[in-house]
Amino acid sequence: MRFESARRALLQKRRSLLGRHAQVIQLENELYGDARAEPDLPDVAADHAAAAVLDKLSDAELYQLKKIGTALERIDSGTYGVCVVCGKKIVRARLNVLPEADRCTTCHNSH
Ligand SMILES: [Zn+2]
Repeated sequence: MRFESARRALLQKRRSLLGRHAQVIQLENELYGDARAEPDLPDVAADHAAAAVLDKLSDAELYQLKKIGTALERIDSGTYGVCVVCGKKIVRARLNVLPEADRCTTCHNSH
């Protein structure tokens, strides 16, 4: 896989973004108990936890999550690393710093 390191960086970023909030929710559940938890239905509980995490995210974090998701899709579809505006390759140094980038530096700065 050509962009394996970028994929790993993106997944790591997403995990840390969600993980921060998952810890808060876990702490809240420990403090107050979670009356809504359904121990016999782990899948439902997991969905509930995921929804609770998304609920806590700020707009900026949701935006970043969306960008990360799109970048992962672009790795799969083979369009990753190409600027969505001008179609030129995004330099590797930029992708290393910002793996979810979908624009080259020139197009990014012109916005
Ligand atoms: Zn561009």
